[in-house]
Amino acid sequence: MKLSRLGEFGLIENIRCRTPAGRDVRIGIGDDAASVKNRGDSSLITADLLIEGSHFDLRWTSLRDLGHKALAVNLSDIAAMGGIPDYVILSLGIPAHFDSEDIDAFYRGFEELAAEYSVALVGGDTNAAEKLIISVCVIGHSSAKPVERRGAKAGDDIYVTGTLGDAALGLKLLRRVRRNSTRKGQPAVTLLARHHRPTPRLAAGAQLAKKKLATAMIDVSDGLLQDLGHICRASAIGAIIEAARLPLSPAYRALAGKEGCDALSGGEDYELLFCARRQNRTQIEKLSIRAQVAITRIGACVPADRGIVVLDPSGKAVPMRIQGHDHFKKARSSV
Ligand SMILES: [Mg+2]
Repeated sequence: MKLSRLGEFGLIENIRCRTPAGRDVRIGIGDDAASVKNRGDSSLITADLLIEGSHFDLRWTSLRDLGHKALAVNLSDIAAMGGIPDYVILSLGIPAHFDSEDIDAFYRGFEELAAEYSVALVGGDTNAAEKLIISVCVIGHSSAKPVERRGAKAGDDIYVTGTLGDAALGLKLLRRVRRNSTRKGQPAVTLLARHHRPTPRLAAGAQLAKKKLATAMIDVSDGLLQDLGHICRASAIGAIIEAARLPLSPAYRALAGKEGCDALSGGEDYELLFCARRQNRTQIEKLSIRAQVAITRIGACVPADRGIVVLDPSGKAVPMRIQGHDHFKKARSSV
C-alpha cells in the first residue's frame, strides 16, 4: 500500500501491532513517551544515523538486511562497553516512493535481531524525507563497570574477536557485481553476509566487563587501525600489531588476494578490539569458548611515543599511515 494512503498514524499502528510486548516495558509505542523499568543503576545510551547514499546503497542492499544492520551497529556499540541492550527507539525519514511493503521488510529485519537479543522497540518517529534516513537509539545497562576506551597500559595484550576484513571485501564484491562481473561461490556468499548482517559481539563484551578482563575496548567500525588509534589516544599508549596474527576467514583468504583488500583498514567488521593484562591470557581463552567466538591476540600496547607500528610477517616494522573511515573527510556508500 502507498504510504500516502496509509498515513503516518496507520504506519505507526502497523508497527505497534507487530511489536511484541517487551520485557519490563510499562508503556510502549503509542503514547507520548514510553515508560520502562531501569535494569541497572545506570544506563548505557548510544545512537546512530544512517543516510541513504552515504551509509548504504539500496541498489545492492535489501531493506530486510538494512533493518538488521541498522540495529546491529548500535548493539555493537553497547557490546563495546560491555553492556546489555534493553530498549530501542527507531526513527525513519521515508522517501515518497516507498510503500508499506518496503517498511514491512525493513521492520522484519530489525525485529528479528531485536527478538534475538531481547531488545524491546519502545518508540520513535516517522517523517517524509528526500532519501531514506534511519536513526536508531539503543538504551542498555551494564552488570559491571562499563569498559571505556581509556584504561589500557603499555605491556597489555591487544585482542580482536572474530575475523577482520570480511565486510570491506564483501562491499568490494558488491560494487564489482554492479559493474556486471558477478562472482558466485561460497566465499563470496559468506563475505556478503558478513557485510549485510554483522554480528554484535554482545556475549563476549558483557563477559569481558563482568570478569574485569578488558582494560580498554572499542568495536571495529571504521577499520582496525583507525579504531585502535582511538584506544591509543584515549589510553595514551602506542601499539604494535603483528600482521601475521590477524584473524582472517577462509572466505577472505580465498578472495582477498585477487581483490587487493586490507584487513587493517577495512571498515564495518563490528568485532570487538580490546586490551587485557598479560597475566589474563588463560582467562581470555576460556572466555572465548564460553562466548562462542574466536578471540585472537594480535599485538601489544607500548609507550605512546612509539605510535602504532605494524610488523609484517617477517617481523619488519611497516610504517603506518592510519587509514580508515572518516565521515566528514570522505563520503562513501558502505552498507
Ligand atoms: Mg563504536
